[in-house]
Amino acid sequence: MKIAIDGPAASGKTTLGKRLAQALGFLFVPTGAMYRAAALAHRRGLPLEAVDIRVTEEGRILLNGEDVTADLASPELDELSSQLAVDGAVRARLVELQRRLAQGRDVVMEGRDIGTVVLPDAELKIFLWATLEERARRRQREQGGDFAEVLAALRRRDERDSTRALAPLRPAPDAVFLDTTGKSPDEVLCLVLKLVEERRAHLAERAHP
Ligand code: C5P
Repeated sequence: MKIAIDGPAASGKTTLGKRLAQALGFLFVPTGAMYRAAALAHRRGLPLEAVDIRVTEEGRILLNGEDVTADLASPELDELSSQLAVDGAVRARLVELQRRLAQGRDVVMEGRDIGTVVLPDAELKIFLWATLEERARRRQREQGGDFAEVLAALRRRDERDSTRALAPLRPAPDAVFLDTTGKSPDEVLCLVLKLVEERRAHLAERAHP
């Protein structure tokens, strides 16, 4: 089974994805972290052809074999990764790596274009959403900084991610829209586990009517 989670910045995709994958025993692939690792490589002056990004079973992100997981959450990489993500060559390379990671196995994958581009055949697609203010509060709790600045940076990134020509952020037509405003991570996980059960029952029914 493949589960796609898409949504705007700080909507809770990684929190949900990690816990869901753990509950189901699936591999978790945080593609946002892969774009961040690509941005780090770009900042280090590495040419795209020389960039290899891996995701381990334990959820670590390896850039050419180096564990960079702890270096990926910063306002600077928030911005740089989103700027780099408009580049067709960068996207083509990362989409190829992402599809390879998902091949022949159960995965939970989070990002912006998973349900629309990377895994269009995913059995369950979730579009996570929360108001801009709530997302800014969450991001400020994680990274600190001035609230107005955090909010402005999120708004700028949402705008760029949703209006770019290639693989813009948008719900797949068959995605379940889930508003997480005011909901705890436990509540969101519980709702999604129910959707997984429904989906599994539906698939089993279709296989053996
Ligand atoms: O989700 P996260 O904030 O870590 O993603 C960083 C940036 O990477 C996003 O702002 C977006 O521009 C880009 N991204 C993307 N497609 C994905 C995942 C992330 O374009 N599947």
